[in-house]
Amino acid sequence: MSAIIIKGGRIIDPANKRDEMADLVITDGKIVQRSDVRGQTSESEEIDASGLIVAPGLIDMHVHFREPGFAHKETIASGARAAAAGGFTTVVCMPNTSPVSDNPSTIAWIKDRAAEGACVNVLPTGAISKDIAGDELASIGSLAQAGVVAITDDGHCIQNHELMRRAVEYARMFDLPVLDHCQDYSLVGNGIVHEGYWSTLLGLRGWPSAGEELIVARNILLAELCDHHIHCQHISAAGSVRLLRDARRRGVKISGEICPHHIALTDESVQTFDTNFKMNPPLRSPEDVQALLGGIADGTLSILASDHAPHAGFEKEVEFDQAPFGIVGLETELGLFLTVLLHKHKTIDLRRIIEMYTVEPAELLKLEAGTLSAGASGDVTLIDPEMEWTVRADEFQSMSRNTPFDGWKLKGRAVHTIVGGRTVWKL
Ligand SMILES: [Zn+2]
Repeated sequence: MSAIIIKGGRIIDPANKRDEMADLVITDGKIVQRSDVRGQTSESEEIDASGLIVAPGLIDMHVHFREPGFAHKETIASGARAAAAGGFTTVVCMPNTSPVSDNPSTIAWIKDRAAEGACVNVLPTGAISKDIAGDELASIGSLAQAGVVAITDDGHCIQNHELMRRAVEYARMFDLPVLDHCQDYSLVGNGIVHEGYWSTLLGLRGWPSAGEELIVARNILLAELCDHHIHCQHISAAGSVRLLRDARRRGVKISGEICPHHIALTDESVQTFDTNFKMNPPLRSPEDVQALLGGIADGTLSILASDHAPHAGFEKEVEFDQAPFGIVGLETELGLFLTVLLHKHKTIDLRRIIEMYTVEPAELLKLEAGTLSAGASGDVTLIDPEMEWTVRADEFQSMSRNTPFDGWKLKGRAVHTIVGGRTVWKL
């Protein structure tokens, strides 16, 4: 029996309402009660966790690993290494691959590839519509059988409300949550930055907040109509927070997710014309950032994620107009959230940050993860919430470098990541 003893850390395990100084033991890949391993410490490895937080392995439920199709941006193996370096033991991949993950054979290919080469747990989602084209439903039952954890057309948004209603009804039959990238195409058109002061001043086409809020409202109505959960991805606008807050108070099965760039930056950044500030939905106004922080503080926005979207240098090093949307995020998100939410604004405490990265996504996606209960998989993240460090994009494990945070000084980071009792990253 091989054992790992993580000694002297502060265990924060929100699933079990635990916050205490204690040792944590992993035996044969599983968390065990300390008392079960007395006298068997001869073959054990000890990890000194003094001064560190011992958390359940963190989950990022919104990443783009670019296989199949775009291995020059990221592979499943390199994306998994980036996840481990960011403190993540489980990630959920979006289906906008090539071919699109809208069929069981592509899902099987991704799972095989992850089993061969990924050092963290990589869970696929399936597309809602065939080819993410929004015209015809994918075979949702077959995707469920193939083992997807949710369906989403992320990057795209189904515009036909009747089709979306059918998707939610099918998803309910298979007990799959629906994740949605909220964007009304007729209103957003080919907008690329937040519609407001800076878009006007710089002459860049605007992406109005109402383009997100309309679809959030649509999703609330459909979640009520179909009595099934819809999760709104990467929320950026104040109006979306108001809609979600009201709906959640009424008990509607709806949730919202927040990415670090939407609270760490505002649309003022786009005046540099640096394409690493181009994302979808776009960076918004300081008022939106305040509303997002309010939504995090009162639980309206309940899940933290990165929207890790790797692109090669040559793809981003073009005119602002032509550049693809998105930034890498796995290796900076925990540091950014700790810096912004814990240290700077004191929006929420460390326990809640860990909960929004563990219990909340695990419950939504019905994952057996996100807890340090006895018998759970030995997935553990050791965090130093006070460590000051500087982001160095050229040291990323990710194959891509498209980050607006290069050179930023952050406070707090994961220092050791353990998956199934095996160290996959150590600072
Ligand atoms: Zn998206």
